[in-house]
Amino acid sequence: MRNVAPVFVDIVKRVRGVCLVDAYRPPQIGEGGDFFNTVDYMTYQNKLFLAGSFVDASDGGTFEVTNPRDGSVITAVASATEDDIKKAFDAACEAQPAWAKTSPRHRADILRRAYEEIMERKDEIAELMTLELGRALPDSQGESVYGAEFFRWFAAEAERMSGDYRLAPTGNARIVEVQQPVGPVLAITPWNFPLAMGTRKLGPALAAGCTVVLKPASKTPLTMLLLAEILDHAGLDKGVVSILPCSSSALEPLYSDPRLRKLTFTGSTAVGKELATKVPTARVSLELGGNAPFVVLSDADLDTAVEATATAKMRGAGQVCIAANRFIVHRDLRADFVAQVTESLKGTEYGPLSGDDQVEKVTELVDDALAQGATLVWQDEVPETGSWFPLTILDNVPTTARMYKEEIFGPVVAVYEAASDEDAIAMANDTNFGLAGYLFSANLQHALDSAERMEVGMVGVNKGGISDAAAPFGGVKDSGLGREGGFQGIEEFLERKLMSLPAPAAK
Ligand code: NAD
Repeated sequence: MRNVAPVFVDIVKRVRGVCLVDAYRPPQIGEGGDFFNTVDYMTYQNKLFLAGSFVDASDGGTFEVTNPRDGSVITAVASATEDDIKKAFDAACEAQPAWAKTSPRHRADILRRAYEEIMERKDEIAELMTLELGRALPDSQGESVYGAEFFRWFAAEAERMSGDYRLAPTGNARIVEVQQPVGPVLAITPWNFPLAMGTRKLGPALAAGCTVVLKPASKTPLTMLLLAEILDHAGLDKGVVSILPCSSSALEPLYSDPRLRKLTFTGSTAVGKELATKVPTARVSLELGGNAPFVVLSDADLDTAVEATATAKMRGAGQVCIAANRFIVHRDLRADFVAQVTESLKGTEYGPLSGDDQVEKVTELVDDALAQGATLVWQDEVPETGSWFPLTILDNVPTTARMYKEEIFGPVVAVYEAASDEDAIAMANDTNFGLAGYLFSANLQHALDSAERMEVGMVGVNKGGISDAAAPFGGVKDSGLGREGGFQGIEEFLERKLMSLPAPAAK
């Protein structure tokens, strides 16, 4: 066991003889070190992609990217200065009018070519994601395809944008609405989906005719830089996209630039809320944190609910915004659910957390739940080096535990008992977050009625997977503003302009 607080270590030692068997599996993927030695990824991926060229930072500054599997340094990446960011944004503003005027098919063809190249290179991209994120390779392979799909979907959407025409109710005007790109965009993405969180923004922005400056997460900038290379190969016009790894502070001057028309941010709620106040006149989309309830009602099919836990909880070792955070189970099913989930999740392949800071946070949350009386049912063993946290299954977690209110972002299954179905839904809604939820009931009417009462943007009904490029992704309450993907995703990058026209002639 590593890096865990003393209370937790104590408890683990006490129970290990009873229930902790040897579940450690060595990482089975293309390990970071070996992989890096065999492929020279660093031709482009450690530079800035600034207005169509791969360049060093103007002051030569860099920061290190590490592999959380073993803490080894992968490379030093150029860190954009305020000057670099200004240069990229100037280029985006200059390119904006011409890009907006390109034909929808021109933009669609670029996205489509980029989609094809991602798919051709999907294994290489997956390995790069696993290298910088540490994540299990199957999860990264899934993300290569998921991330590519946003380009395919929005390539088609570029050609389907439309306006509106109607007659005023009085009959004395023609109301015409045309859609136009909102203008230059600043996009900020998190580390947990290094490819898809970028393509989910770039796809609709480019389809709509917006230019973009994108700041990838400092923990995982390499995949986005590889995507820059792919967009370049696809023939993207110079200046339309810049991808700039940088410190958060280097972005500050951009917020007050009146040319900035749109901020699209995916990340934590605290940072998103703060950023929204810094750009009062730009359009804002926020994809923020979650606290997903996984509700098992009294009439649920237990096998279906148990099977769904792997997808809902274990992708990315639980570091997913829609990861099930609270398993709220009707009291009649709780004991069986815990026993079956434990059996089913043992042996799941998962990777480390994104860094030691994340391990510390998850450790604190687990320690707190245990100190408040939760029962430790199962815990894997994980490697000593690297930022690992073991699969941990907790039963009888009290609703006073911090993890009832806070996003865990780790492979921790926390089970809460609900006294009735009514209580289960009330507990599900007892949070400021409202991103995703999961609902299990074998009775269709009951399932739909209950799902509709959940205060979230998305519900998996009798299933653990939700995301699809063709579906609107987003939250309510503290989980965000706006939707990404689906038909709605492109609307976030379009303005509706009214043209009021003369009424039809009387005769
Ligand atoms: P984070 O908020 O720390 O960082 C997100 C991005 O913002 C990164 O690029 C980071 O470098 C940057 N950033 C951080 N502080 C900043 C500041 N003061 N000014 C400008 N930029 C700043 O989040 P994270 O740890 O990278 O990601 C995990 C969080 O993201 C979780 O809360 C997760 O739920 C959320 N998330 C949400 C979605 C969604 O679609 N709703 C998807 C993925 C992740």
